[in-house]
Amino acid sequence: MSGETESEKAKAYNRAKRVLFLIELGVGFLYLVVLLFSGVSVVITQKLETATYNVWFVILLYLLIIGVAYDLVAFPIDLYGGFVLEHKFGQSTQSLRAWAWDRLKSAGIGFAIGASLAEGLYWFLRRYPTNWWLIAAAMFIAVAVIMANLAPVVLMPLFYKFTPLRNEELKKRLLALFEKANTKVRGVYEMDMSRKTHAANAALVGLGNTRRIVLADTVLERYEPDEIEAILAHELGHHENWDIWKGILFQSVLSTVSFYLAHVILGTYSFSFGMRGPSDIAAFPLLMVTIAAVSLFFLPAVNGFTRRLERRADAFALTLTRNPEAFVSMISKLGRQNLAEFEPNPILEFLLFSHPSIGKRMQRARELFPEDFRGTEKVEKEG
Ligand SMILES: [Zn+2]
Repeated sequence: MSGETESEKAKAYNRAKRVLFLIELGVGFLYLVVLLFSGVSVVITQKLETATYNVWFVILLYLLIIGVAYDLVAFPIDLYGGFVLEHKFGQSTQSLRAWAWDRLKSAGIGFAIGASLAEGLYWFLRRYPTNWWLIAAAMFIAVAVIMANLAPVVLMPLFYKFTPLRNEELKKRLLALFEKANTKVRGVYEMDMSRKTHAANAALVGLGNTRRIVLADTVLERYEPDEIEAILAHELGHHENWDIWKGILFQSVLSTVSFYLAHVILGTYSFSFGMRGPSDIAAFPLLMVTIAAVSLFFLPAVNGFTRRLERRADAFALTLTRNPEAFVSMISKLGRQNLAEFEPNPILEFLLFSHPSIGKRMQRARELFPEDFRGTEKVEKEG
């Protein structure tokens, strides 16, 4: 395949993904608006309240009904984006059955976590009508910390199998790298991503005693040891820079803003359309629209923030390994493998990219170590 058709394929893939993102956003927004304005939300609540007096149970059933209905409405988008498109572009290695099972599992887990949080939130709304938003924000922060800790040991194993890195040769090299960085992180796990996709990934996950680096087997199969070292060094950069904590802090500020705005909006509009006030579950779509609108509004800021962390992790990796050529070949391989656009539209990059574009990351490495990229006239460096 020539370079040009390859980049055209990546372009088409990413364009399709963005269109789907917009459709999903539109459908979700429309769904909530229809629930609210048509009076369906109030009718569901009233029917449930005639069936049971238990407010916790009413909330649970309400969420189950509108959650399942939404999943049905959004199913075609989900199927197309998660399965059809991935196969069309040769990325997915999953059967329809395996994909459906994954989706069902994540919907179940999502519902269990989401419904528990909502029950807590509505309890605060009933009990502390003026300060609920502050208490809810504190609860979300606590939950975010607990989830970050539990994710690698409880949630992620439901979707992937993790085994400590087996390649002894590589392990030795990586331990030397960790020694050099003077870090406490020692756990490197491989993840059987190839069962689902040809794409590759690596990440720093966990908090405290669950902190570890995970590496897809799709990386281990295709990359040179030098390149794997560059990936690990980047993830170590995230660890050394406290990036998981910074992310949690940033999200905490956002959720506090969201809940405060929800407080204002529920206080103003939750007596319309036959609803009985902020703590009425019938006003749930109003709460969701507010939270979603805040998230969307701050999306470019969140992406700008994570791009900054990624740039720093890259710089950390380059300084630690002092092997910019391996870094550049790794990043370009990763970009091609994941069908990334190397030179995306700058506006789209600003709005939607959580990482700097592949082209920018390669360019940065070359700028940091220009002497390594003079081709044949390579200058030897002293330690
Ligand atoms: Zn990163």
